[in-house]
Amino acid sequence: HADIAMYKVKASGKNNFMFFNAHMNECYHERLALENELRQAIKEAEFELHYQPQISVIGNRIIGVEALIRWRHPVHGLLTPEHFISLAEETGLICEITDWVVTEACRQLALWRSMGLQDLRMSVNMSPQEVDRSDVVERMVSSISRYNIPPHFLEIEITENLMLRDVPQVIDKLKELHGHGIRISIDDFGTCYSSLNYLRQFPINSIKIDKSFVCDLREGSNTSPIIHAIIGIAKGFRLDLVVEGVETLYQMKILHDLGCDEMQGYFFSKPLPAADVECLLLNSSFLNDFCQQYHIPLQP
Ligand code: C2E
Ligand code: MG
Ligand code: MG
Ligand code: MG
Repeated sequence: HADIAMYKVKASGKNNFMFFNAHMNECYHERLALENELRQAIKEAEFELHYQPQISVIGNRIIGVEALIRWRHPVHGLLTPEHFISLAEETGLICEITDWVVTEACRQLALWRSMGLQDLRMSVNMSPQEVDRSDVVERMVSSISRYNIPPHFLEIEITENLMLRDVPQVIDKLKELHGHGIRISIDDFGTCYSSLNYLRQFPINSIKIDKSFVCDLREGSNTSPIIHAIIGIAKGFRLDLVVEGVETLYQMKILHDLGCDEMQGYFFSKPLPAADVECLLLNSSFLNDFCQQYHIPLQP
């Protein structure tokens, strides 16, 4: 369905949604309009980053944040990436957008570091097109050095389909980034039909269990065999593991019992604007309060 895009545009001021089933060749009007709006958005700086905490349950602290892009559309309000990232990828505008994302994420991280949050990790999502760029390494390295960020505090999240393309240049780019100390994480792990062979060739620091497996964890259901398997893979390859989409106390407890430590999800916090997530980051008792609220025994 690569040529069919569903653009769900929120009608201004109303709660109903208009669906545009825009076939790329036939009705390219909406696509063109959205593309122009996207170009405008880059010029007018209409994007913002929201940040979702990643928690270490055992460490009882926020170890990092994932930067997630939002588009403050002048008419349609705040749009999530599903509304515009695929178009940005198809039109190549994603590169300019990613430049902005990386710079903004580094700027923000530097600010938080200056406020004493010296151990905080920042994750940014990266489309395959971006990794294909000839100067991606240069750009990333210049961003972190401009803001004086030790490279291992920056992590890029890429999806498995990038690995599947099996392009040698991509492997080289990732190796180079990794060589500079930048962390590489595989997002939505387990959702792609893939050979695990790439885990041997790629310089990977961590994998993220996709939320679709986590939402299967419900009271009364057996624990997901896929989650078991992925935990085994992470252990075997000595990779860090983050579970995303943790929404309930039950899921958190099950995952903790299974040996998962790093978690991200609505149960802890939704993605928040910088100022709001900053309150959580600076409030050292945030997780303590949280544990008390849910009667989670605190680690010594
Ligand atoms: P992702 O990287 O897998 O990010 C996780 C998505 O799951 C985010 O959606 C997040 O808001 C959502 N999420 C987090 N916790 C929960 C939970 O407990 N339950 C549920 N149901 N959802 C949860 P979001 O922000 O809409 O982003 C969607 C996707 O857009 C991201 O998936 C990522 O692939 C892409 N994306 C976001 N920002 C960027 C960016 O700056 N550049 C690129 N290339 N892609 C981006
Ligand atoms: Mg991600
Ligand atoms: Mg994901
Ligand atoms: Mg995703």
